[in-house]
Amino acid sequence: MNVLVLNCGSSSLKYQLINMNDESVMAKGLCERIGIEGSRLKHQPQGKEDVIFEEYMEDHSAAIKMVLDALVSPECGVIKSMKEINAIGHRVVHGGEYFSGSVIITQEVKDALVKCSELAPLHNPANIIGIEACEKTMPGIPQVGVFDTAFHQTMPERAYLYAIPYEYYEKYGIRRYGFHGTSHRFVSEEAAKMMDRPLDQSKIITCHLGNGGSICAVRYGKSIDTTMGFTPLEGLVMGTRSGDVDASVVTFLMEKENLTPKQMDEILNKKSGVLGISGVSSDFRDIESASEHGNPRAEAALDIFAYKVAKNIGSYAAAMNGVDAIVFTAGLGENSGTTRRVICDYLGYLGVHIDSYNNSLRGKAMEISAPDSRIRVFVIPTNEELVIARDTKELLDK
Ligand code: AMP
Repeated sequence: MNVLVLNCGSSSLKYQLINMNDESVMAKGLCERIGIEGSRLKHQPQGKEDVIFEEYMEDHSAAIKMVLDALVSPECGVIKSMKEINAIGHRVVHGGEYFSGSVIITQEVKDALVKCSELAPLHNPANIIGIEACEKTMPGIPQVGVFDTAFHQTMPERAYLYAIPYEYYEKYGIRRYGFHGTSHRFVSEEAAKMMDRPLDQSKIITCHLGNGGSICAVRYGKSIDTTMGFTPLEGLVMGTRSGDVDASVVTFLMEKENLTPKQMDEILNKKSGVLGISGVSSDFRDIESASEHGNPRAEAALDIFAYKVAKNIGSYAAAMNGVDAIVFTAGLGENSGTTRRVICDYLGYLGVHIDSYNNSLRGKAMEISAPDSRIRVFVIPTNEELVIARDTKELLDK
C-alpha cells in the first residue's frame, strides 16, 4: 500500500509518498506560495535528482495536481499512475474535543473540522481546503485525518481547565488542548522500545524543541499534561512565540500602545520568543552564534529558553511522581548538543548525567545519558509523516 501524506498550510503543501510495505519514502516535496505570485514546487524523488517546478498554482487543487503530475512523470516520477496511490493521510492541526484519535474522513468529520476552525483559524481552514482538493483531484481515494491535538485528549481536567469562569469553557471551548501530539506519541513509543520496557509501564517526558516547542508528560503511554494550551502560544519560549506571560501584560500593552487584538496577537506570535529577547533571529543557530560572539541578549535568550524547558521537565517529573526517560526531538532538540547539555545541567537533582561524546553525535536515534544516570535521556528524530501513514494504513486495513 502507498500512502500520500499531506500537510496543507494556508499557502503551502508538504507531501511524502510512503510505501507501507517497507515504510520507505518514495518521494517528498513542498509547494510554496500557493495562490501567490512566484509559486514553486520542490520535488524530491527517491533515487532521482531533485526537481524544481516554477509554475503558478492558483489554489490547493492546482498544487495537488502538480504534485500528482510530478509523482507519475516518466522523468522524475516514482509511480506509473495515480492508481498506485491507495490512500491519503492528512495532518490536521485541531480536532478540538471531537477527535481523540485518527479517523477516516467523512462528511461528518469535515463538519466537525469546520466547527474546530474557530480554534485554529490559520490552520484548520487550510487542512479542509486540502481535503476537498483531494476529493476533487483524486475522487474515491480514502482519506484519513491525523490530529495534532488528539494525543492530548487523555489529559485530565486538572491539566486542561483554565481557572477562568467555567462558562467560557462551555460557551467557547476555552481549555488547554496541546499540540505536536503526533510527535510526542511517536518519540515516546520509540523511547519505550529503546529502553526495552513496556510503554504502559513507563513515565516519559518528551521535549519537542523546534521553531515551535512543547513538552509532554507521557504516563503509561498517555499524555497527562503538555505545555501548549488553547493555542500553540502557551508554554515554552519559542522562536518567535512568547510562551507563558502574565495575561495582564497583554491588556497593559494593548492600552499603552493602543494595539488592536490582531496587532497584539502578532507581537506575541511573531515578534516575541528568542527573537524578541535577542533581537537577532528566531533561528537558534544564529542565536547560538551571536551568543558565542558575546552578544548579551542572545546569551540571555538561550539561558531563558533552557531554564524554562528545565522548569517544565521538573514540573512533569512531579506530575507523574517520577520519570524514567527524557526525550529530545525536532530541529533544535535533535541537533543542538549545547542546548541539551545546558538543559540537562539543571537536572542533576534528578540524577541526570549526560555522556558528552554521545551528546555530540547527530542524525540517528540514540541514548545520550551516561551509564550512571538515574534517568535515561534519548535523542530521537521525530517522524510525524510516518505516524500519519501508519494510522492511515491501520484505519483502512480495518
Ligand atoms: P523545526 O521547527 O523542528 O524544523 O526546527 C527548526 C529549528 O531548529 C530552527 O529554527 C533552528 O533554530 C533549530 N535548529 C536546527 N538545526 C540546528 C542546529 N544544528 N543547532 C541549533 N539549532 C538548530
